[in-house]
Amino acid sequence: ISERARLVEELKVAATTDPLTGIANRRRFDELVKLEMQRCQRFGHTMSLLLIDIDHFKQINDTHGHAAGDAVLTELSRRCAAAIRPLDLVGRLGGDEFAIVLPGCGIDETRQVAERLRALVAASPFPLAGAADGLTTAVTLSIGGAAGRYPSMDVALAEADAVLYEAKRHGRDRLLMADADGIEDGDPVGPGVSVQLSQP
Ligand code: GH3
Ligand code: MG
Repeated sequence: ISERARLVEELKVAATTDPLTGIANRRRFDELVKLEMQRCQRFGHTMSLLLIDIDHFKQINDTHGHAAGDAVLTELSRRCAAAIRPLDLVGRLGGDEFAIVLPGCGIDETRQVAERLRALVAASPFPLAGAADGLTTAVTLSIGGAAGRYPSMDVALAEADAVLYEAKRHGRDRLLMADADGIEDGDPVGPGVSVQLSQP
């Protein structure tokens, strides 16, 4: 019985956890976000989201090897976890893309979390395990944020994805935020506010 229970538990973990980084995988993240979204809609809270993508990650793999790339992904998941508060959710959506959901947060608090992550990423270069000992690489991120009362998570994700694409297009290493409340207030939908993430 206990062997069976252990196996069931192992399967559960395998189905919900990203094996490399140990954080929620896309499936688990989607589940958690769906529940949180329902709660936020019920209580009229905002639901904000950051989509995070490493800049030129392929180059890290190509230059230092896949194991070094893996080490960077693991370290980034740690720094993401360190940037959030207990009720926030973080997941690896796939490849070098991560997401953070901030229940009840508006655009200002969402920017603050992105800024905290930026500071943690800029504070020290990332160790490259698997490459020669002691080697590190600087990492920059592009972040697309969507803040406000979105009608569904899919809409918020699409919005964050669109501004992330713009952040990449505008030179990477930056945060771009979209604000859903602007639409509700009847304001024109702005292009978001672009903020360069690394200190010049
Ligand atoms: P951009 O600045 O536009 O985001 O460029 P990029 O190189 O980060 O983006 P691209 O999508 O071209 O490359 C992502 C790479 O991530 C390609 C893929 O081989 C690599 N990758 C995906 N999953 C893993 C993984 O689990 N480990 C490692 N080491 N690499 C991975
Ligand atoms: Mg990338």
